[in-house]
Amino acid sequence: MLIVMHHSAQQREIEQVRAAVQAMGLRAEPIPGSERTAIGVLGNQGYVEDSTIRNLPGVREVIHVSKPYKLVSRDFHPESTLVTVGSVVIGAGKPTVVMAGPCSVESEEQMMASAAEVKQAGAHILRGGAFKPRTGPHSFQGLGVEGLKLLRQAGDAVNMPVVTEVMRIGQIDDVCRYADMLQIGARNMQNFDLLKEVGKLDHPVLLKRGMSATIEEFLAAAEYILAEGNQRLVLCERGIRTFERATRNTLDLSVVPLVRQLSHLPIIVDPSHATGVRSLVPVMSKAALVAGAHGLMIEVHHDPERALCDGAQSLDGPAFAQLMTELQGLQNFLSSTSVTMGM
Ligand code: PEP
Ligand code: MN
Repeated sequence: MLIVMHHSAQQREIEQVRAAVQAMGLRAEPIPGSERTAIGVLGNQGYVEDSTIRNLPGVREVIHVSKPYKLVSRDFHPESTLVTVGSVVIGAGKPTVVMAGPCSVESEEQMMASAAEVKQAGAHILRGGAFKPRTGPHSFQGLGVEGLKLLRQAGDAVNMPVVTEVMRIGQIDDVCRYADMLQIGARNMQNFDLLKEVGKLDHPVLLKRGMSATIEEFLAAAEYILAEGNQRLVLCERGIRTFERATRNTLDLSVVPLVRQLSHLPIIVDPSHATGVRSLVPVMSKAALVAGAHGLMIEVHHDPERALCDGAQSLDGPAFAQLMTELQGLQNFLSSTSVTMGM
């Protein structure tokens, strides 16, 4: 950490900062410059909380060299992490993993039909929400534990592992009982108590980026899970909130190669929630692959016009099958070319 003083800072203010740094058990080395003094902070093991320093008189700026995430960082863990869900492996060097299924579990008939369609098309993991984080309380809230059972039943029927969202700590036991992978949704990315609890599990976790989260906040949220011991974590870019309303969110594809540089964790893309527009999902899925995503999460409904949630962004079975064929072709092409794709 580097503390930059105002050009008018007095010697006693510099001394006060030095004393505050030493009180934190760290070393402070003033670096006098022609215009101002900077103070280098040495001896820290990682990110230093700067709130006491930042407000001291004479301090202009605090520049962090260490990131607020360490376990997530590639600096301390150069090899890419592979995450196993059932018999599916997600991560660098592995074929793209596609998680697909309806936004919400609605009924046995719907879940079985959607599961059969995505399996037939070649998806690897079945999705379906039983606990739904809806914007308003009058929208369909999900079937709860009944939905978990239907998701499990459908997954078993087509021999696919299943992923579903957990919204609060009290749901963890039920979700672990029925699902192979726990999803933390965008709205809960900074529910730190929930992150800590899933960090204590041995189940794989899918952490979606908060709709207004910076990349640093996203990775710091991931750090909460790793810090509790659970290393089975996959990140998911699902679009961020911008001024643009023509799409539901704005897909931030640059996060994919950037996270691959910064972190050893796998990252997948959810083009369904990122765009909110069915016709944009196939092309953005392909773009995600080119950007280096290790997988995709795609909403598929056997009858999107009648979906209880997110029908406008859901592909039907034939459209999903077409996309899977194209993704396979693209993947074959990408693995045969020498075009570099980042890490
Ligand atoms: C979902 O995947 O069902 C979902 C609610 O997504 P997000 O948390 O990204 O909005
Ligand atoms: Mn949805």
